[in-house]
Amino acid sequence: MLPHLHRLGIDPGAIDVVFLTHFHGDHTLGLPSYVLHRAFVARTPFTIVGPAGVEERLESLFRASWGVDWEVIRGDLQLTYREAGERGTVAGIEYETVQLDHGTSGCTGYRLRIGGRLLAYSGDSIASPPLDRLVEGAEVAIVEATSPGAPYSHLSWEEAHALRDRHPGTRFLFVHVYEGTLDGAVTDLEVVDV
Ligand SMILES: [Zn+2]
Ligand SMILES: [Zn+2]
Repeated sequence: MLPHLHRLGIDPGAIDVVFLTHFHGDHTLGLPSYVLHRAFVARTPFTIVGPAGVEERLESLFRASWGVDWEVIRGDLQLTYREAGERGTVAGIEYETVQLDHGTSGCTGYRLRIGGRLLAYSGDSIASPPLDRLVEGAEVAIVEATSPGAPYSHLSWEEAHALRDRHPGTRFLFVHVYEGTLDGAVTDLEVVDV
C-alpha cells in the first residue's frame, strides 16, 4: 500500500478515512506498514471503517506484525475504528453499504458521495444482484474482475463485461486483475482497456 501510494504521487498522510471491505489478506496486509507511517511520519487523525469486528481483527493483525512494540506504536497513532452501518458519514464522506456475496465471509461494498458525485467500490464479489445494486447510478465504479473463466467467489472478465453493459452510464475501473500467464493478464500497475 505505501509503495503504491508513493508511486502514484498520493501523500499517505493526507488520507482521512480508509474504507475496508473485508478482512482477506490481499485487502489488509498493506495496513501494518501504513499505520507505522501514521505513527511516525504523519501523526494526524484518521479513521478505518470496516465490517463488524474491524477493531478486533485489525488490532490482532497489528499485534501479530509488531509484537510488544505495537503498544508503543499504538500510543503514537490517532486511529479510530468505526463499524460500517447501512449508511453514515465519516470525515465528511457520506456512505452507504451493500452486502456482497464473496466466499463465506461476504464483503461490504461502499457507495461514497464525494463532492456531489457517487463512487461505488466493491472489494470482492461474485456476479449477483447486490453487485448491480452497488453500482446502480454511480458515476464511477471500482470493481474487481479477477480473471477469465470462473474464478471462485470473484467476478470473471466475462461477467465484468456484462456488468458494464448493464450500466452504460457508469465508468468502470476494474481492478484485482490476475497477474498471470493468460492472454490479457496485466503486469504491475499496467492499465488496460477491456
Ligand atoms: Zn476476498
Ligand atoms: Zn481480494
